[in-house]
Amino acid sequence: MTDTLSLDDKLQAFVGQTAGPATRGRYPVNEPMISHWVEAMGDFNPVYVEDEAARAAGFPGVIAPPTMLQAWVMRGLRASLEADAARHAARHAARDAAGDAARDAGQASADSPSDQVMALLDSAGFTSVVATNCDQHYERPLVPGDHLAVTSVIDAVSGEKKTGLGVGHFITNRLEFRDQTGDLVATMLFRILKFKPGTGAAAKAPEASVEQAAPRPLRPRPALTQDNSFFFEGAKQHKLLIQRCVGCGTLRHPPRPSCARCRSFEWDTVEASGKGTIFSFVVNHYPQVPAFDYPLVVALVELEEGTRLIANVSGITPEIAAIGMAVEVGFEDFDAELSLPVFHPAGAAATAAATAPAAVGPVAPTHADETRTN
Ligand SMILES: [Zn+2]
Repeated sequence: MTDTLSLDDKLQAFVGQTAGPATRGRYPVNEPMISHWVEAMGDFNPVYVEDEAARAAGFPGVIAPPTMLQAWVMRGLRASLEADAARHAARHAARDAAGDAARDAGQASADSPSDQVMALLDSAGFTSVVATNCDQHYERPLVPGDHLAVTSVIDAVSGEKKTGLGVGHFITNRLEFRDQTGDLVATMLFRILKFKPGTGAAAKAPEASVEQAAPRPLRPRPALTQDNSFFFEGAKQHKLLIQRCVGCGTLRHPPRPSCARCRSFEWDTVEASGKGTIFSFVVNHYPQVPAFDYPLVVALVELEEGTRLIANVSGITPEIAAIGMAVEVGFEDFDAELSLPVFHPAGAAATAAATAPAAVGPVAPTHADETRTN
């Protein structure tokens, strides 16, 4: 109990402390960065890129998207890597040259109040961290030429809280963004939770955690068109269909409007035998999407009819997946709307897969897509 109180006392002593001198942005607010950012975000509001549209909306000219705020004070990848290295080194040898490097980079040194709070919580067992809240307040729109600087102060540290993730402390930092004249242009409250791993709801009661487990996210939907819908409708009926040109009989996959051989737009479908071989494959480890199991074996399967498609292979470990392996189609109904072909080893390969240790369970399919047949 004494320990808990003294930890709280130590934490509260950090409230109000600043992380260091103001950090100035590398570049002033500028139109090229705005342009790249809005394209990356898919934000097509013209006030960010067209002076005329901005003036029509009552601004003097283009403005920066408000949520781009932090972009103007980011230090860049190189300085981040150097600061991380310095921080790491300084943990082992305080006040060495690397610590100076961090300060030279205009960043909080390794012994900033923020770092000390984190280290204090680490040493008390609160080793995990998750960001929980971010509230931004804008005083005025930012325009090209503004040059921002930011200061950070520890705004609040909570007592020990019980959360779904585990017991922990919330730490709120208050960042103030000022322009080249020193005027406040925006503030941001950024809150994190430092918690003890293994103390959350999921870790407590295995039986309860099964009931409380969030439903698994649905697999991504295929982009349906009038040309490819038959493939997915067929999969719902557990049929592997191949598009066939009515003009010349050529099979093709992925589905497309016309025949590359005779230009005919007329087509129908044939049902494949489902037998094929692995023409090529990859084992996907990252990035991991919640709807899928990993490692994920994704194969380019050549059907005996001659067309190829991309699908998953189940009942196989990545170690025994091989080019040329015989496979046969099966179907998995993932939800009411989505069934997909999933291949599994066939013939001798099936025997080998069955005797291999720890076969991977049914792996998730990608939607059969862009693979040329020849
Ligand atoms: Zn044709």
